[in-house]
Amino acid sequence: MPVNYSPLINDCMIHFLRISLLFCLVATATAQNKPLSNRIANYTIDVVLDADKKTLFGKETLIWKNTSNDRISELQFHLYLNAFKDKNSTFMKESGGQLRGDMMDPSKSMNLGSITIESMQIRNGETLTKKIKFIQTDDLNEKDKTVISVPLSKPLSPNESITLDINFKAKLPQIFARTGFADNYFLVGQWFPKIGVYEPAGMRYATKGQWNCHQFHANTEFYADFGTYKVSMTVPKEYQLAATGIFQSESPHTNGTKTITYLAEDVHDFAWTTSPRFVISERQWKHVKIKAVMQPEHSGSTERYFQSAITALTYFEKNLGKYPHTVLSLIDPPVNGAGSGGMEYPTFITCGTAWGLPKGFRFPELVTVHEFGHQYFQGMLATNEFEESFLDEGFNQYYEGRIMDENYAPGSQIDFIGFTINDMETSRISYITMKNPKITEVFRNAWEYPKGTYSIMTYTKTATLLKTLENMIGRSTMDEVMQTYFIRWRFKHPCVRDFIDVVNEIVPKRTGNRFGTDMNWYFDQVLYKAPVLDYALKSINNIEKDSKVSGQFTVERLGDMILPTEISVQFADGKQELIPWNGEEKSKLYKFDKAISSVKVDPQNKLLLDLNFNNNSKAVDPSMLVFRKYTMKIMFWIQNMMQWMAGIA
Ligand SMILES: [Zn+2]
Repeated sequence: MPVNYSPLINDCMIHFLRISLLFCLVATATAQNKPLSNRIANYTIDVVLDADKKTLFGKETLIWKNTSNDRISELQFHLYLNAFKDKNSTFMKESGGQLRGDMMDPSKSMNLGSITIESMQIRNGETLTKKIKFIQTDDLNEKDKTVISVPLSKPLSPNESITLDINFKAKLPQIFARTGFADNYFLVGQWFPKIGVYEPAGMRYATKGQWNCHQFHANTEFYADFGTYKVSMTVPKEYQLAATGIFQSESPHTNGTKTITYLAEDVHDFAWTTSPRFVISERQWKHVKIKAVMQPEHSGSTERYFQSAITALTYFEKNLGKYPHTVLSLIDPPVNGAGSGGMEYPTFITCGTAWGLPKGFRFPELVTVHEFGHQYFQGMLATNEFEESFLDEGFNQYYEGRIMDENYAPGSQIDFIGFTINDMETSRISYITMKNPKITEVFRNAWEYPKGTYSIMTYTKTATLLKTLENMIGRSTMDEVMQTYFIRWRFKHPCVRDFIDVVNEIVPKRTGNRFGTDMNWYFDQVLYKAPVLDYALKSINNIEKDSKVSGQFTVERLGDMILPTEISVQFADGKQELIPWNGEEKSKLYKFDKAISSVKVDPQNKLLLDLNFNNNSKAVDPSMLVFRKYTMKIMFWIQNMMQWMAGIA
């Protein structure tokens, strides 16, 4: 959630907030005896930071296992930092040098980042350095250097492992898009040559064995196999450090540096941070040591980070499953490094706060809860963030809404001088106020969303469609679905089809086929296509004839999405009736032999995808219209706020 000076927001309160939102860290990992994952990609890295030149010198040993039945004659690697190499990378072209509220001027060399492989060799075997080729399978942009292909003279057989020794050098960018430096603060993410995922036939959408190793795009995050990381980081001796995994050792050197080693198991990434300014404190929660790695000027937020991390840990343990690691680091970035805040890495999240932030602005809580949630979706389910970003961000956003609203409402996002706004409400408003909600479906590659729609599709529409599903099938069924999906698929890289299979297995059983024998009709509409939902109450008429009164009303379906709902009818005699409506007809007339006083479609506002709740009801004596103007104003305000918040990853 980086600082973003959007001209749309001029409210001084918001301006003040903007100057703040930032982040936290914690280092963590696990020391299970029994592997939780298949540990395909295992790294040992020795890296030296030149803090003045903002440069890393790395020696990496990768042991990679071929768990497929294929003979593999090529390896593919991500070189993410090359996204910041110059203005010609796919990332820079797509982002225009602006992302997550940060701007980057590629004409200044200090801003740039890059990574070079100086040598790559098979242990006791072939030297691969000269055979390395840059490839651009997504967009054919030959100037993009974020993926390499490495042909092997001798193919790797099924069950065979390969050990590679790689020397690399990397220049960190001035913090941009999650990674880099700000003065002497370093957030080192996506920093080493990282092998792609080899997907054998049958895994996710693969029809034949193939590498899944996309270029780094402006709107994509990451995808990698699980493994172990043993990383030794050499930094100036006065620097403090936190990293993914568990601290192992620290040894000083005579040249003014020291080497700190961390070990992480069953993770698919490794990030670290170092700075001479950190103030670090710890808190134990059950089996988890939580570490707050704070900027001194943000110490007033330490307790807020701890409390919200514990709130999230408790909620996820109860509702999805145990957090398997024994460490969690909450990293708090400085204001000038805000672009590294609001980001998730295994056992290590970056948070965000501001000096003197009032309690009613719950951004430190929101960012911590959000980034922690990624430990489950990005961290353990580890879905493909290039191709199905919503499976991580949207599912996580749905839980962010639940946790914030159940722990901090009313005003779970903001509670300030009488104004309150809740989290789930914010997600919904961001979707329903988008200019053209039919412009794209949720299900598509993250780099292919039409401009300005990535964050709505990936985060807020997905959260809204999951909450709508929950409202339809009930909380306990929804929880059973989510828990089954999580337990079945953790550490296995599911795709959305795997999730829908779980829904189809559980929901018909638990709801007595009330929604049919499967829920494909729901996902076809909300995920694979982009119809819109808008139910409306058109009219109520009470007709007096021969001293008898009859009442009638007409409901309308204004959009092209069809979801089953209910209509609540209040009669003049005080009685009430709830009528099911399948929404299939575009317009439907209901008649009664008594007078009606009011009618409401979807009376509990369960169908949060409905673009307009204001037209859902009418009363014979209309009394609720005042509300509308007020709501529209708030929507506008929130839309602005959402744009500003789009920096959270
Ligand atoms: Zn996120």
